[in-house]
Amino acid sequence: MSFSVTPHDYMDFIKRAAARIEEDREYITALDAATGDGDHWANINLGFEQLLKAEAELREMNMGAMFKKIGMIMMSKIGGSSGILYGGAYQAAGRSIGDKPAISEEELALALETMAGDMMRRGQAQPGFKTMIDALYPAAETFKQCLADGVNDITTLNRVKEAAKAGAEATRDMEAVKGRATYQANKGVGHLDPGAVTMAYQVECLCDTLLDKLQKDQAGA
Ligand code: ADP
Ligand code: MG
Repeated sequence: MSFSVTPHDYMDFIKRAAARIEEDREYITALDAATGDGDHWANINLGFEQLLKAEAELREMNMGAMFKKIGMIMMSKIGGSSGILYGGAYQAAGRSIGDKPAISEEELALALETMAGDMMRRGQAQPGFKTMIDALYPAAETFKQCLADGVNDITTLNRVKEAAKAGAEATRDMEAVKGRATYQANKGVGHLDPGAVTMAYQVECLCDTLLDKLQKDQAGA
C-alpha cells in the first residue's frame, strides 16, 4: 500500500503541529533562553498562528502552490533565523512539487529532502551543527531509505518520526557551529537545540496525521 498527501491532509498536520507547539510555550522558551535569545517559541508559534488564519485559502490550493504560500507566510511573519529558514525551505519544496492536487509518499520524502537541502544551503549548516537540521535531515534520509527498502507505510512513518526525535535529542551533546548557541562559552553542550525540538514536533505531527489517515482508510476499506 502507498499513500498520497492532499492539501487537506497537510493542513490537518498544520493544525496538529500548531496545537502541539502552542502547548509547549514554557519549555521551548526556556530552551532558547538557555542557549539563544529566548524568542524561538514566540517566532514559531506566530508562524503557525498565521498559517491557521490562512487555513481556508491554503486548503483550496494545489500542493506546490500551498507549499509556496506557507513559505511566504513563514518568511514574512516569523522573525529570526527560523523565518528565513522555514520560509526558504517551503518555497523551494513548493517549486519542486509543482501544481499537483496531491503528492505521493515518494514526493513527500523528496519535499522533506529538498527542505533540508535548502536549509543547509541557506543557513550554511550541516547535520551535526546543533540546529533544526539535526531533526529534519535524519527524518528525510530515513524516509528515503525506507522507500528504497520497500518498508511498509506504517513502519516507515514511525521510523521517520523516531529519526527526528533521536536527531533532536542528539543535539544535547553537540557543540553549536551555527546559531546563537555558538556565542555560549561551552557552545551549548548539555542543552537541546530549540529549533531541533520544534522541528521534531512537526515531523512527529506530520507522521501522526498520516498514520491516522492510513488507519481511517484501512477501517473504511
Ligand atoms: P534566532 O536564532 O534568530 O533567535 P530562532 O530563535 O527563531 O531565531 O531560531 C533558533 C533556531 O534556529 C536554532 O535553535 C537553530 O535550530 C536554528 N538555526 C539558527 N541558525 C541556523 C543556521 N545557520 N542554520 C540552520 N539552523 C539555524
Ligand atoms: Mg532565538
